[in-house]
Amino acid sequence: MNTKTYNPFETAQKQFDHAADLLDLNQATRDLLRNPMREFHFLIPVKMDDGTVKIFRGFRVQHNDARGPAKGGIRFHPMETIDTVKALSMWMTWKTSVADIPLGGGKGGVICDPHHLSQSEQEQICRGWIRQIVKNVGPNTDVPAPDVMTNPQHMLWMLDEYETIRGEKLPGFITGKPVGMGGSKGRTEATGYGAIITLREALKELNIKPENTTASIQGFGNVAKYAIELYNKLGGKVICVACWDEADKTSYSFKKKEGINLTELMTISDPFGGIDKVKALSMGYEILPGDAWLEQEVDILLPAALENQIRTDNLHKINKSVKILVEGANGPTSREAAEIINQGKIHVIPDFLANAGGVVCSYFEQVQCNMNYFWEKEEVLGKLDLKMSSAYLAVSDFARSNKLGMRDAAYVISVNRVAQACHDRGWV
Ligand code: NAD
Repeated sequence: MNTKTYNPFETAQKQFDHAADLLDLNQATRDLLRNPMREFHFLIPVKMDDGTVKIFRGFRVQHNDARGPAKGGIRFHPMETIDTVKALSMWMTWKTSVADIPLGGGKGGVICDPHHLSQSEQEQICRGWIRQIVKNVGPNTDVPAPDVMTNPQHMLWMLDEYETIRGEKLPGFITGKPVGMGGSKGRTEATGYGAIITLREALKELNIKPENTTASIQGFGNVAKYAIELYNKLGGKVICVACWDEADKTSYSFKKKEGINLTELMTISDPFGGIDKVKALSMGYEILPGDAWLEQEVDILLPAALENQIRTDNLHKINKSVKILVEGANGPTSREAAEIINQGKIHVIPDFLANAGGVVCSYFEQVQCNMNYFWEKEEVLGKLDLKMSSAYLAVSDFARSNKLGMRDAAYVISVNRVAQACHDRGWV
């Protein structure tokens, strides 16, 4: 993978600069939005199970909160860097803005590897993270959520620590909690479903019937599985999925021309979204190299695994048949590749629009917690559909009327909303 020189924060800043040029933003607004407003670095001492004390590094970055409390996940990763967290916090600002929910952008992290930490050690990291940042986060200031290698249990420990220190119940402080403990129904499905809702609207605009389309997908995790589920319900056929093989330390693509069977593949996949290739072979799947998902003769490509997967070095592999690129993952297309795609015929649904379903549902979770009244799943998914389709239509209308690509249109809309909020508050 071509990630050596990839610095996500530089990419995020260049993307912003391009949007700022299109909007002709003044210098003060550029200076304000090019960097996070606040950045916290702290140390978390943890008493390890073997009696030693280990110090972990934690971060929280609040990129911008002009439109509402900062919102964004907390990642646990051994290779976590402040630049990744800063980039992701900026992308969250644009994501909440393009989805038009009253929140800003933030992100957090701890440099650690949960694979090698006991439950008790992980609980101490969660509680320690809260103790270091308690004065600067809250339901009305900054609302965290799960992200890479953090889960609903981590969120519940964090909430418990926060409420204990504050001496009151504040379930709207954090989202991604377990259903029944303040979590929202529909959150698991929200990102994958959200991506397909935007795809459905794009297909309508292009006058293509979903049942006449095929798709190829990178990833078989949370986003990909629910995307496949809803796409299948619309009548679409996925012919190829790719995933990581932990044992072989490489990725493979799994192909079935007549359409992959989601239920069948789920029975032979692990909790990390890896597929058993021996069993897949016996079920009639072709096992192809990791990049093969990109080369398929399909109408739709849906990267839903990692960042930086479509680059100038593999762009030529995309089949001429591809009409729509739905970016389920964060940053799956490099900036240079995105510029080339923008000149061509592929209709792009950019990442921070296509995968906004998760944060939209997190916003619904916060609303339900603040009301202490929880909705049924159908209601959550109905509201998700409305938010995602309106966000998509606003971007595509703007792209058409201003002769912009979809990515530029999404950036211009979201950056403009944030810049306007900063201006209206009298900041710039
Ligand atoms: P996940 O961990 O559930 O699944 C990731 C999938 O990607 C797995 O199937 C894994 O095998 C596969 N994968 C990993 N490395 C690969 C490689 N080199 N080649 C091919 N496949 C590979 O993750 P997820 O929650 O589905 O998230 C996927 C992407 O979507 C990430 O970029 C994430 O940041 C983004 N995203 C997720 C959400 C959410 O709500 N889950 C929301 C917004 C954005």
